[in-house]
Amino acid sequence: MVAKGDMVYAWTTDAEIAKKAECGGAVTGLLKFALETKLVDAVFAVKKGQDLYDAVPVVITNPEEVKDVAGSLHCGTLLMSKLVKKFLNGAKDMKIAMVVKGCDMMGLYELGKRQQVNLDNLIMIGVNCGGSVSAITARKMIKEKFGVDPDTVHKEEIDKGQFIIEYEGGHKGISMDELEEQGFGRRPNCRRCKLKITRQADLACGNWGVIGDKAGKATFVEACSDKGTSLLEGAIAAGVIKVEPAPEKGIEIRKKTENAMLKLGDKWRKKDFEKLGEGRQRLENIVKETSRCIRCYQCVEQCPICYCVECSTKKPYLVPPGDVPPSFMFHLIRLTHVSDSCVNCGQCQELCAMDIPNALHMHALQVDLQEMFGYVPGVDMTLPVLALVEEPTERARLAATGSDQIFDIFKK
Ligand code: FAD
Ligand code: SF4
Ligand code: SF4
Ligand code: SF4
Ligand code: SF4
Repeated sequence: MVAKGDMVYAWTTDAEIAKKAECGGAVTGLLKFALETKLVDAVFAVKKGQDLYDAVPVVITNPEEVKDVAGSLHCGTLLMSKLVKKFLNGAKDMKIAMVVKGCDMMGLYELGKRQQVNLDNLIMIGVNCGGSVSAITARKMIKEKFGVDPDTVHKEEIDKGQFIIEYEGGHKGISMDELEEQGFGRRPNCRRCKLKITRQADLACGNWGVIGDKAGKATFVEACSDKGTSLLEGAIAAGVIKVEPAPEKGIEIRKKTENAMLKLGDKWRKKDFEKLGEGRQRLENIVKETSRCIRCYQCVEQCPICYCVECSTKKPYLVPPGDVPPSFMFHLIRLTHVSDSCVNCGQCQELCAMDIPNALHMHALQVDLQEMFGYVPGVDMTLPVLALVEEPTERARLAATGSDQIFDIFKK
């Protein structure tokens, strides 16, 4: 029996999954079990594409294909939440089991409270996340810092503070601190991220805290919700997952590691936000950086908070059409509409055609707003600040329609 709140070491009994999995294969085992037993209609996860720098989101309906997604891609910087909204109709008409990193999960909560995603239809299998490296940075870093041809690398992992690669002819690890001080390593938003263990998902899985003879062979699983607990129980009863209680020492190590990561997150926040400046200086920096904008709309397209049918940045009376760069109003609109709920997923920066540090701008404002209003995005179903400071009718409209704009104050 497993109860909500329990922490166990878990591993798959499927040899094929075990071989391919990152550690114990419990995540893949659970996904397969959920699909096989028709608890869900589909599994939504990430698969290796052309190479390990190419993370591909996949929807799987055949249980035999689930094993293909086993393993972690640290150079896969996808955001799963927006994809559920955009391509899977917000899980409104199908049940889905999916793997979520902290930012994926936070995005899902923000979309869920805006009725853009049906969280009841989702089983969220969370994975701990120390961070991901953008594919371009990874290739450059492997070439320049490791002196290795990135195309010869067949495995990468982040372990004990090192980025480690295995390639034709050997393996090498370099400390993440060293890499990051030189502008390589994890994405800037990941360095500032403080959602390391996905306790707000149905299960929180990872390798932190797996010690002794199970190190590398089991997945540390925390049962976080009734849904997650019953999935785990069902899989144990069916014999597809085996478990044993996590030892006290392992639980302690996991907590210590999480705390160390949170401290590191604070360090990077301080550093990045100080560089951006405060007040007028911050505004000047943002105006300067965004003056490179070519209006490709990727920041709007990828942001989990931006889903409006008619985006205000496309309204000619707000942002004159055709101008490149667009007037600063373009960015001001996004900053005012999104900043309270930004989950620091990094997509608006990662995919910006002009490498504008959009996520840094938004995250700095989000942290300020959090200090002012206490609203923490992405961790529960509390409504965002802007929904509260707007008129109650706006709140009701948002709840009733679910697919309209956050703001419609300029409606004729
Ligand atoms: P598996 O059975 O191998 O299943 C892994 C699942 O993860 C697969 O379903 C796959 O689709 C999915 N996946 C792979 N890459 C991605 C991606 N980029 N985005 C979303 N889903 C993905 N655990 C820690 O304890 N500490 C960490 O610092 C840590 N950092 C991580 C960073 C990243 C980017 C990722 C993806 C995972 C990280 N994990 C971390 C979790 C760990 O790597 C394992 O996923 C977890 O322990 C489960 O192991 P498993 O053998 O049961 O997973
Ligand atoms: Fe992981 Fe956080 Fe980066 Fe998302 S933002 S990939 S949860 S470190
Ligand atoms: Fe992610 Fe950028 Fe949107 Fe924030 S503003 S949630 S970092 S895409
Ligand atoms: Fe994003 Fe605002 Fe556009 Fe909506 S109107 S998509 S919140 S920028
Ligand atoms: Fe401008 Fe970058 Fe946004 Fe494209 S992604 S519209 S270049 S800020």
